This record gives sequence, C-alpha cells and structure tokens, in this order.
Amino acid sequence: LLLPVAGLMAASLVALITWLARRRLSPLGELELALRNREFVAHYQPIIDIETGICVGAEALARWRRPDGTAVRPDFFIPLAEENGLIGALTNQMVEAVIRDLAPVLVADRSLHIALNLSAEDLVSGRVLAFIQQAIAGTGIRTEQLWLEATERGFIDIEAARATIIEARRLGHSVAIDDFGTGYSSLQYLQRLPLDALKIDKAFVETIGRNAATSPVIGHIIDMAKTLDLHIVAEGIETEEQLAYLRERGVRFGQGWLFSKPLPAGEFVAFHRRRQHEYGPGPELIRRAI
Ligand code: C2E
Ligand code: MG
Ligand code: MG
Ligand code: MG
Repeated sequence: LLLPVAGLMAASLVALITWLARRRLSPLGELELALRNREFVAHYQPIIDIETGICVGAEALARWRRPDGTAVRPDFFIPLAEENGLIGALTNQMVEAVIRDLAPVLVADRSLHIALNLSAEDLVSGRVLAFIQQAIAGTGIRTEQLWLEATERGFIDIEAARATIIEARRLGHSVAIDDFGTGYSSLQYLQRLPLDALKIDKAFVETIGRNAATSPVIGHIIDMAKTLDLHIVAEGIETEEQLAYLRERGVRFGQGWLFSKPLPAGEFVAFHRRRQHEYGPGPELIRRAI
C-alpha cells in the first residue's frame, strides 16, 4: 500500500517542481520548453473556391496551448520565435502536424491542399523544403498538395528567397505572397519573384463597402494580380457583401469567418466532408495548371 502512495507523492512533487520552474521562465524560455514538449498544434482554416463553393483546402495556423489550458496568440509567439532563431523548429513541427492530422485524408482526396506559412528564416535557408520532402516520403502525400505562403518580411534577402521559391516550385509546391500590401515595396517583389498566388490581406477586404476612400485599392490589387497572372486568395471575408464584391471581380479563392474560423483537424475534416457533399469534389489543382 505504501509503495503506490509514495509513487503518487513523488509524481505530484515532480508536477509541483515543473510548475514552479515554468512560472519562473521568461516568455522565451517558455517558448523553448513548449517546442521541446511539442505543445503546438495546427488549426485549419478552410479555403473556398468562391465561384463554386468547393472547399479546395485549408491554411494551417499554429496554435499554442499551454499545459494549464491557456492559449497564446500567434501574434505574440510567432515574432518571438522569429526573433530568436526558433521559427525553423516551429515550421518543422507544423509540417509534422499536418502529416499527423491529415495524411490519410490528403491521400484519399487529391483535390485537397494545405497551405503552410513560412517565415524569413525558412525562405533564406530553404531547409524547410528538404524537411518537407523527407517528412512526406512514404506517406503518399504529393508535394503539389502543399502550398507555401511567404510574407514580404521574408524577402529581406531577396536573392535567397528567390532561390528557395524557384526550388519549391520545381518540387511542385505553389507559392503565394501572404498579407499582400501590408509591407514595403511589394511591387518590386511581385516583379522579381516567380509566384503562383497573391493573398489579399484582410485589411483590404475590410474596406469593401465600408470605407469609400480606401476600397479602390483592393480593386487595383485584383487588377494587378490578374495582369501578372497570379491566382488570388482573399483573406478575412466576414460579410456577404464582401463575398459578392470579390465574386463579381472574379477573385477565385477566399477564406474568412463567413465560411469558417480556423478549426481543429477533426472539425476541419468534417467541414470538408459536409462541403463536398453539398458542392461536389474539387478539381486537382496542379501548380500552374489551375
Ligand atoms: P496570416 O497568415 O495572414 O493568417 C490569417 C490570420 O487571419 C489568422 O490569424 C486567421 O485566424 C485570421 N483570420 C482568418 N479569417 C478571418 C476573418 O474573417 N476575420 C478576422 N478578424 N480574422 C481572420 P492567426 O491564426 O491569429 O495568425 C496570425 C498570423 O500568425 C498569421 O497571419 C501568420 O502570419 C502567423 N502564423 C500563424 N501560424 C503560423 C505558422 O505556422 N508559421 C508562421 N511562420 N506564421 C504563422
Ligand atoms: Mg498565411
Ligand atoms: Mg495571410
Ligand atoms: Mg494576414
């Protein structure tokens, strides 16, 4: 009888010490620990073909849930990871999360795509590409089913980013410029980088029908993307009015709360199944052949 009791006491002592140690950690120390303990999961925000209503895939968004159940916002931990050389490790964990969550679904449904967010470090080093190849080897997932998103912040070293994008596309990924228009000298990047798609930031989608002074900008972004032969994904669609405008302007893809918030893997799979039932299966969107 004494043995289990002693064991229990030892276990709770360890828990207490862990809790005390954690309480004294800096945010960075806590992030390092969280990466080691794999406290990150992916949530999936559906990407919808605006014309047909078909769900063509989802964007994987990192979520950090501490063991005590509290959540940390990506706006906080992504920059923290980026500034401290930890984002590569986080990106790798996201790749693994996608495979763990969705490999059978991706293999069964070739029309399903998952978009991963890359940071500057990922683009500069390009190591993530080999990591992805190694991670999907033997799973049956096709490189074409994985889309990559890069923000303008990732183009500080434009030549390195360019080399990574070229290699990514050679392997079969589609590459999108994310949060378009929120950064610096975007036009130059658009001209110099071989991109497949442009994601219009929600800051511009928000202006549709609301702010007469700024909403013309989104029209110009759409025109420019079409001129450059880029696919367009509109972010942050919240209202029917915004959707109607985007549909009328021929924007092909959209994501936002109007369709769905980011969902845990199981709920995303259910969403996708429901949607497929309602709107039919999607096409296989092979890069450059969409
Ligand atoms: P993002 O890549 O532009 O992702 C879109 C953000 O908009 C997500 O915020 C999403 O939850 C939010 N969103 C989507 N639809 C709506 C809408 O209709 N209304 C509103 N108000 N918001 C909407 P989230 O998940 O907080 O992520 C914030 C940013 O953190 C992302 O912006 C991305 O830049 C970064 N991030 C998230 N996960 C990762 C990751 O795994 N790796 C990297 N490098 N960055 C990530
Ligand atoms: Mg993104
Ligand atoms: Mg975005
Ligand atoms: Mg954004």
